Amino acid sequence: GAVMDDAKVPGRVRVAVRMRPRNAEELVADADFADCVELQPELKRLKLRKNNWDSDTYEFDEVLTEFASQKRVYEVVAKPVVESVLEGYNGTVMAYGQTGTGKTFTLGLLGEEDTASRGIMVRSMEDILADISPETDSVSVSYLQLYMETIQDLLDPANDNISIVEDPRTGDVSVPGAIVVKIRDQKSFVELLRLGEAHRFAANTKLNTESSRSHAILMVHVKKTVKGTEAALPSENGNASLLGKTIRPSIVRKAKLVLVDLAGSERIDKSGSEGHTLEEAKSINLSLSALGKCINALAENSAHVPVRDSKLTRLLRDSFGGTARTSLIVTIGPSPRHRGETASTIMFGQRAM
Ligand code: ADP
Ligand code: MG
Repeated sequence: GAVMDDAKVPGRVRVAVRMRPRNAEELVADADFADCVELQPELKRLKLRKNNWDSDTYEFDEVLTEFASQKRVYEVVAKPVVESVLEGYNGTVMAYGQTGTGKTFTLGLLGEEDTASRGIMVRSMEDILADISPETDSVSVSYLQLYMETIQDLLDPANDNISIVEDPRTGDVSVPGAIVVKIRDQKSFVELLRLGEAHRFAANTKLNTESSRSHAILMVHVKKTVKGTEAALPSENGNASLLGKTIRPSIVRKAKLVLVDLAGSERIDKSGSEGHTLEEAKSINLSLSALGKCINALAENSAHVPVRDSKLTRLLRDSFGGTARTSLIVTIGPSPRHRGETASTIMFGQRAM
């Protein structure tokens, strides 16, 4: 079908791979060289070229080529997660890959001039707003940046030391120090994303770093009142009978959707690094490898998911296991010059399955 087959089955992480088209530079400079990967979307397979005559084959839950539209990517990767959030289960969508391969394109495009280009964040909110009723339900968001093991509020950048609180009873994770903004319409949500993005840019300029070195985390809280019913049971003659009435009280369903634009997964050259770049590299490696370990533990149905190793995994704790649904989209480029990084991104995705 149009969505991942058992996308709503909890536990396992669903993994899609998306390849971006060659950019202008690669089209020219690498014109004489074949792509380092070949995609077989119908078979959900990817072939990674080893040399001119040999390649390794990998299977994914979905294989999205350079021709996959933003709409299709949303429907395949995020929509099942959004739907389960609307049913009251926590959900997470993460984008992992080398800088420049399309993580932000996939998640964050606002698509104001060209609505077809809208990314997962905007499309998710659109579906949530369409589902809820303004009188009884609410949707609110926080927008955070995680850089070198510190959490900064992208909606209030002065607030740059946010702590994570875990409820020992329920296991729920929250960030009480972060601003939570109630969303009433799509327009104000897009404004908020733009504001967060501007703050992110300014903060990183000040720190003399790049946004590709930090994780951006959008948390969407959905609260829905499910109306009680007075469903009449059919009587023997098939007509509804008031005698067989069942009454169900109203209940409030709360769930959280977390959308994560992860830091670039590339190996940062430590030899030529100066200042805090080495510390940055260590910190990114720490959080991404901690994430990898948690996802592996889930894939292996292990009883122990090592969430405590980094802030990233502590923050995502209630996305791991239980009734939570998690989708991972790994993004790659086609060019042979990045074959090494592409291979390591593919392996990260494979270990999650
Ligand atoms: P990342 O966030 O992983 O660093 P970006 O999302 O910024 O990467 O993408 C890098 C560049 O590639 C951008 O110019 C973006 O528009 C382009 N790009 C990424 N994915 C696609 C795609 N699927 N189709 C067309 N262009 C893309
Ligand atoms: Mg990016």
